[in-house]
Amino acid sequence: MGYGLCFGCQGILFRGGLKVGNNEVLNKLSVCGLDCSRCADYENGEIRSLSSKLSELLNGYERLARMKAINDPTFEGYSKFAQILNHFAQGSCGGCRSDNVKCPLDCHAKTCGKERNIEFCFECNEFPCDKQFEGKLRERWIERNNRMKESGLEKYYIEQSQLPRY
Ligand code: SF4
Ligand code: SF4
Repeated sequence: MGYGLCFGCQGILFRGGLKVGNNEVLNKLSVCGLDCSRCADYENGEIRSLSSKLSELLNGYERLARMKAINDPTFEGYSKFAQILNHFAQGSCGGCRSDNVKCPLDCHAKTCGKERNIEFCFECNEFPCDKQFEGKLRERWIERNNRMKESGLEKYYIEQSQLPRY
């Protein structure tokens, strides 16, 4: 426990004697510590809006892609690319803390965090519990939560936002 977040000291909540920061930033991070705001599935994310714009700009390109495929096999896969782009353009998850969670990860934190009245796994007295994730995903989950605990939420948020999301 013991994290703080200021961001101009607006929107501070108090819970269990701790300062729990700015709702806006809290809502960007999932209970397991992933950045929902940069997620490819997030309905209000940049990946969704940029994909939507690109999909619009490429509307009707299929015909040209077929012509280009005659000399460049890269374009033989254009329709698959367009399908994936359309998928990104329809980002469908409201984020881990919303009522519309469509996370593809087999994640327990999104439900048991609420039951335990905690915002992040590192606050949980069972952290790192055995049921959450496996392999590399699990290692990264533990690293993220240890980092949040050590450095505080504000610093963690800034640090991770400067790294690639995937
Ligand atoms: S909860 Fe939704 S937005 Fe957050 S990481 Fe999972 S899929 Fe992405
Ligand atoms: S039980 Fe595990 S997954 Fe659930 S909040 Fe605690 S540490 Fe996270």
